[in-house]
Amino acid sequence: MSIESLIKNFERAQIEAFFVQNRDMARELALEIIEKRRTLCAKKPEELRISWGGSKTLDECGIREALSERYNTLDPYALPKEEQNEAKRQALLSDVFLMSANAICESGEIVNIDGNGNRLGALIYGPDMVIIVAGKNKIVPTLKDAYARIKKVACPKNAQRLNRATPCAQEGVCGNCYIEGQTICAHTVVTRFSTIKDRIKVIIVDEELGF
Ligand code: SF4
Repeated sequence: MSIESLIKNFERAQIEAFFVQNRDMARELALEIIEKRRTLCAKKPEELRISWGGSKTLDECGIREALSERYNTLDPYALPKEEQNEAKRQALLSDVFLMSANAICESGEIVNIDGNGNRLGALIYGPDMVIIVAGKNKIVPTLKDAYARIKKVACPKNAQRLNRATPCAQEGVCGNCYIEGQTICAHTVVTRFSTIKDRIKVIIVDEELGF
């Protein structure tokens, strides 16, 4: 399937999608979208509330650093452990929330699995705008392929990144685990339509990014 068709499918879902060649362009586009938003709501840079979910893709694009230089950002992951939970709750009231996706179906569904659910909470409701940045490696044909990708690729790597003692982290294969404090598969969200038109924006990057 072509990127044009995917973007059309996102349009049908009231999700605004963009396609860029590389991570630098993705960063610049995210900044441009956010600056446009700031101008529209007539806020000073320090008044715009920006936060994000944990994401290797955002790191690889240098988006968090670029935003922190310009705006008053809330980075829950940079805070001491005991303050992170409250910061993640506050992030739900952001003007703009950034994240990646675990998989994107050619039909335009965005699929994510989360442990705490703070990232998915923000995706569903709360922030005025959600910007998803995803490498082309996240695109799969069907919902079934999305689940397979998440269990075979995203979860093992994320569990390793988070140092979790799960079967996927240790053996690379999902063991359908239920382990307190370890399991990263608690919530699965399939986003097939944005009730508020263009609240969710997707920047697809013509590069392999994240897991
Ligand atoms: S259910 Fe457990 S083993 Fe399976 S992918 Fe999720 S965290 Fe890994």
